Amino acid sequence: MKPVQHEFEDAKDLLHESFGNSVLRHLIYSVGKDTSHAVERDWCVALSMAIRDRMVEGWIDTTRQIYEKKQKRVYYLSMEFMIGRMLEDSLTNLGHLQEARTFIEAQGLNFHDVLHAEQDAALGNGGLGRLAACFMDSMSTTGVAGMGYGIRYQHGIFRQNMENGWQMEEPEDWLVQGNAWEFRRPEVVYDINYGGFVETSDDGKAEWKPSERVQAIAFDMPIAGWKGAHVNTLRLWSARQADLMNLKKFNEGDFMASAHQQILAETLSKVLYPGDHTPEGRELRLKQEYFFTAASLQDLIRRFFTNYDSLDNLGDHVAVQLNDTHPAIAVPELIRTLMDDYDYSFERAFEITRKTLHYTNHTLLPEALEKWPKGLFEHILPRHLQIINMIDGAFYQEALKVGLEHNVIANIQVIHPHQQDWVRMGNLAFIGSRKVNGVSALHTELMKQTVFHDLHTMFPDKIINQTNGVTPRRWVLECNPGLSDLVTEKIGEDWIDDLEQLKKLEEFAEDAKFQKRYMDIKSDNKKRLAEFLEARIGITVNPDAMFDIQIKRIHEYKRQLMNILEAVALYNEMKANPSAPWQPRVKIFAGKAAPSYFLAKVIIKLISDVAEVVNNDPEIGDKLKVIFLPNYNVSAAEVLIPGADLSEQISTAGFEASGTGNMKFALNGALTVGTLDGANVEMQEHLGEDNIFIFGMKADAVAERQHRRARPSEVIKDSQRLQQIIGQLESGFFSDGDTGRYRDILDNIKNHDYFQVVPDFEDYWATQRHIDEVYQKPSEWAKMAILNTARMGWFSSDRTIRGYAKDIWKTPTI
Ligand SMILES: *Cc1c(COP(=O)(O)O)cnc(C)c1O
Repeated sequence: MKPVQHEFEDAKDLLHESFGNSVLRHLIYSVGKDTSHAVERDWCVALSMAIRDRMVEGWIDTTRQIYEKKQKRVYYLSMEFMIGRMLEDSLTNLGHLQEARTFIEAQGLNFHDVLHAEQDAALGNGGLGRLAACFMDSMSTTGVAGMGYGIRYQHGIFRQNMENGWQMEEPEDWLVQGNAWEFRRPEVVYDINYGGFVETSDDGKAEWKPSERVQAIAFDMPIAGWKGAHVNTLRLWSARQADLMNLKKFNEGDFMASAHQQILAETLSKVLYPGDHTPEGRELRLKQEYFFTAASLQDLIRRFFTNYDSLDNLGDHVAVQLNDTHPAIAVPELIRTLMDDYDYSFERAFEITRKTLHYTNHTLLPEALEKWPKGLFEHILPRHLQIINMIDGAFYQEALKVGLEHNVIANIQVIHPHQQDWVRMGNLAFIGSRKVNGVSALHTELMKQTVFHDLHTMFPDKIINQTNGVTPRRWVLECNPGLSDLVTEKIGEDWIDDLEQLKKLEEFAEDAKFQKRYMDIKSDNKKRLAEFLEARIGITVNPDAMFDIQIKRIHEYKRQLMNILEAVALYNEMKANPSAPWQPRVKIFAGKAAPSYFLAKVIIKLISDVAEVVNNDPEIGDKLKVIFLPNYNVSAAEVLIPGADLSEQISTAGFEASGTGNMKFALNGALTVGTLDGANVEMQEHLGEDNIFIFGMKADAVAERQHRRARPSEVIKDSQRLQQIIGQLESGFFSDGDTGRYRDILDNIKNHDYFQVVPDFEDYWATQRHIDEVYQKPSEWAKMAILNTARMGWFSSDRTIRGYAKDIWKTPTI
């Protein structure tokens, strides 16, 4: 090893050239341009490569140290990683941001434009994918030997364009210009099999004879933590055809046949499935899940054998975290590997698996708990289906022993013994894992009471809570430099990786001078946001109005509908009393709807329609503006969140597992209007009841109304406001006389209203008017906002990761 070490030290010397020289060297020799021809994008790539070189030092150090110390490794398997842009993050974490700015400005360029020449890596739908990205940052920051595993989608989440107020989906080609962060690892490649049948030999040993094979090839991205000391890896798998091109067919002129196989293989890493809490995309989706899970397990076992020689104690040295059920196929896959490749008995293989895997649940929505038609499963993964049957057999015996009844057991097995149509991935993940965690206190409690009630009785120590968090590097330090500077000036910079230090700001909450500086920063952020809106959609807003923002995936349970109905009610009231002293508001919405989720798309259309009427009403002017900002993503969030006064977290209680948008807003000094749902409950505990606006039914009241199918009409008959709004939607007031456009929305709120928009509406309205009053007392508002920043420190994803490390992974942190 010595000579290698020596060469590495030489390489480090080479990097002791100035940062600027590194950038220039990369511009010329990696990008192939000179300074007079380089465009912003070229500088962005050169900068990225220069900082990447400096990350590689820590990367190699980290890897060597983990090997030497035999540190327990954590593997985070996630179908989604919504990392966004990487350049600013990397420059910040390595401490080169100022140097880079000075250098780029000296070239006569705008630093912001250079940073923004990078495309978002949008390999996720929403919160679940963003959580995985925050966790990567926090695992590096806290020194966890953590590796992320996912799919290198050629097209991440679709780009949302608006046509006439309707969402249009377009493919996002984020890789066309190359990805400066990734290292292609052509030597790290695994076969992934599908289909075929299982042959059992005389001695009872099974052999899977697959009919289809693709290869998974690794692409690595280094992820540096705060100060860059510890650098972990995000390894994303790309699919390619396993066998060489069929040259015979090609030479015979059948180009299509030879291309066919390649296209089929590559489809696996082509697109991120754009669903959000809706089950679809069947066969390809199942194949994708198996694709990245099987590749990741093969990879971690190969690495395991560089340190150990028996898989007996795999779980002592390796912890695998399954982010939702998408990688739950890991349960039978690990058992299969242990049995078929390493000759373990089923019992031992099952035992080892249950000491290695851990599962994070993200939803209680029954329709969102993944399940696969058994026939499809058998067709694609016949050996895995056999193993699932063995799991069910063994589990049945366990459950009998603890005294469960046959019919209770049937409901919690992976496949129901009498209704054999589905393979239920939630049950599989639960049964195959050592720990199962929820993502907020309320969600974990509801998990115990609802979806996993019987499994919880059987394994009372298995379910634990780890409330989500967000990384303060991206979500304060980078997106809100004004606030970051003020905080650092007051309390030093330790808060950046010890966020509870923000508590020290409490003493300034009523200090008039501090309030002014704090609110001046908010005001600058609002101006920046106003310019962004102007540039993106050409709407001018008054930065002195209250900025009221709801940005997240569009879904009935998130209740964008309630928010836009409240906007209509406000508009109506303003029209009725034009001279009343209305608090001016800008209501901003952004978010994507799953392409097949028609109702969500109509909600977007309704928002656009209301915007059209309200924004063009001269009598309303700057008192009310309604905005739908297209193509919400991480980079948009970084501008929207620091510019918010009010954060809308208004989901139907019991339906938002945690939320993380809620945390980003409060940290940046927006006050929350919200229900007692997800992590809002814990936010209220940390902030104090006086510093958050809570309204609406609690989870138990919601469940009770849903259970007895309470009719919305009972409530509507007492609400003048709702009656007026319904009348307007029915008459075509917002839809150019089209009386049918909102038919589904109307049917919903008048007849079913499963998500309880109607019964929560009046309380929401009243709370909003109370918020108007508080906003008109600037010093009171400022005090509350400061206390939000000061008291949100607990919601750092560093705290979450330390919790996982201690309670689930049993691995040290620094
Ligand atoms: C934080 C974040 C989310 C999650 O928002 P919720 O309000 O918790 O649903 C979704 N998308 C992006 C781009 C985010 O940054």
